[in-house]
Amino acid sequence: MNSFGTASNSALLDNNKSNVTKADAEEAIKTLIQYLGDDPNREGLIDTPRRVIKSFQEFYSGYSLNGEEILSKTFEDVEGYDDIVILKNINFESHCEHHMVPIIGRATIGYYPNKRVVGISKLARVLDVFAKRLQTQETMTAQILNCIDDALSPKGTAVLIEAEHHCMTTRGVLKNNVTMTTNRFSGCFTIDTNLQDRFIKMAN
Ligand SMILES: [Zn+2]
Repeated sequence: MNSFGTASNSALLDNNKSNVTKADAEEAIKTLIQYLGDDPNREGLIDTPRRVIKSFQEFYSGYSLNGEEILSKTFEDVEGYDDIVILKNINFESHCEHHMVPIIGRATIGYYPNKRVVGISKLARVLDVFAKRLQTQETMTAQILNCIDDALSPKGTAVLIEAEHHCMTTRGVLKNNVTMTTNRFSGCFTIDTNLQDRFIKMAN
């Protein structure tokens, strides 16, 4: 699993194509604190820019991860298993690209292997590749599906995501307990509605 120590920080820097340094980013947080009306030099806030950027490196670690690489190791020896494989209720935390506030949810990811299967934890890691970025739920759902399709060429893929958007619950319209559901299917899940129904039943 990706740790958020030195390795991932340097990976993040390697991935940074903008020439913006960590010092620049910390300075921006300091400016933001001033803009809000507080003193960034008071004791409680002096280390905040450093901590915020460290948190951001965790929240947005997906930019330095590659989904197809994660799914590159597959197994063929499955004793003739020929049915759908589902990983259910995988928790995730993401951030909406419009307000940079949390999207907290659960995903169910399924695929119908084309002879080759992948280690099941890898599907959860692929979710984080896309969740740990600035996102919309719709985009993320499609990206996960496309990544599995491209990397594994399965008979079909299915992704269902249910999430609470904090830009609706802590600001704006202030509606609690509202969840948004998105789903996306490919291959045999699009053609065979029974298979699609089975996936949705298994997911719920
Ligand atoms: Zn938002």
